[in-house]
Amino acid sequence: MQAGDKIKVCVVGAGNIGSHAIPLLARHPGIARLAVIDFDHYEEKNIVGQAINRRAIGVPKALEAVARVAEVRPDLDTESLPVPVELVPPGRFVGFDVVLGCVDSLATRRHLGETLWRLGVRYLDAGVRPDAMLVRVSHFHPEPDGGACLQCSWAEANYRALEQRNPCGGAGLRTAPTGGTAALGALAAAHLVIALDQIVADAPGRLPPGAELVAEATYGRGYVSRNIRQPGCRFDHRRFDLDTLDVVPGVTTLAEALETARGRLDRSGAALGEAQLVLMGKALATRWTCAGCGRLIERLQAWHPAADGSVPCPHCEYHTARPIGFHIRDALPLSEIETSDLNRTLADVGIFEDDIFSVRIRARELHYHVRTAEHRDPSRVAPGRTASSCP
Ligand SMILES: [Zn+2]
Ligand SMILES: [Zn+2]
Repeated sequence: MQAGDKIKVCVVGAGNIGSHAIPLLARHPGIARLAVIDFDHYEEKNIVGQAINRRAIGVPKALEAVARVAEVRPDLDTESLPVPVELVPPGRFVGFDVVLGCVDSLATRRHLGETLWRLGVRYLDAGVRPDAMLVRVSHFHPEPDGGACLQCSWAEANYRALEQRNPCGGAGLRTAPTGGTAALGALAAAHLVIALDQIVADAPGRLPPGAELVAEATYGRGYVSRNIRQPGCRFDHRRFDLDTLDVVPGVTTLAEALETARGRLDRSGAALGEAQLVLMGKALATRWTCAGCGRLIERLQAWHPAADGSVPCPHCEYHTARPIGFHIRDALPLSEIETSDLNRTLADVGIFEDDIFSVRIRARELHYHVRTAEHRDPSRVAPGRTASSCP
């Protein structure tokens, strides 16, 4: 990113902070493309804290926010994704210069922090603390000399809070309301967009990666602190070097996709028998039980707790088979994948456009970004396109 370049920005969350930030971004001459991700819709109670009018009540936040942007900047390339960010295929973030996080859920922030770090996408994370009248903007980006990730500053209490908020092991999609006033949300939004400005302009006073700006709203005080990489951080800080895998998910079989990786691994002399398949942001389930007839179903399927994780039962009319805990794997040995599963298409297995899968042998890993050839251009999305095609 060079000073003066027009940039591509993705906003996650169009609530207390995001609804105020998006109109500011719409008026920003340095932005060429704006995407908004939010699975929620506006409600009556949002009127007091969020930058919306009554017409927006009942409308998905992502669609409403982008519609308002179009009223200000009809020329701007926009995209709305009214889905939980955890279900956005990670490759969708490739090509964005900056992602602005305006979410409150710790689980969602951790998901964004890890995903964007892996992809090398810059992440500005904003928050408010209404009880102390504080707003916060943090900047994360993997730097050659290290740098702190979101979790480098996390303590045991943060991880405990993750568990408390999701007692059923859900993905933390229900954002707890911040209780932030419109003024505090607007202040956080303004600081966020100013921080973005400084990064775009490569200004000397910019918020460097690993740094956090905290502004106290009542007396107008503020300070910037800088976190350092913590050796005890629970995140591994690895960046993924992505290869593009030109396939058509509805046609290409899993065997054909893995063949590409096999070819490269063979040349490296690695032992293929030990290779494992890893799907970024999703687990792989191999055994399911049907809630209708109770029978066991053996079938490889990508799975996420926040998604409708059912597979069709071949034995009865119910389609509510759930994965069996011991058969949900983060890394699945290739040797355990049945031939019948290898011969299914990627889409049938649950691997779609913009998913990222890895083939891992011991410390060696190859990472593939699933893309169809006509979608190689990152500016491919036409203005006004919605996420209806998003799984
Ligand atoms: Zn860290
Ligand atoms: Zn059944």
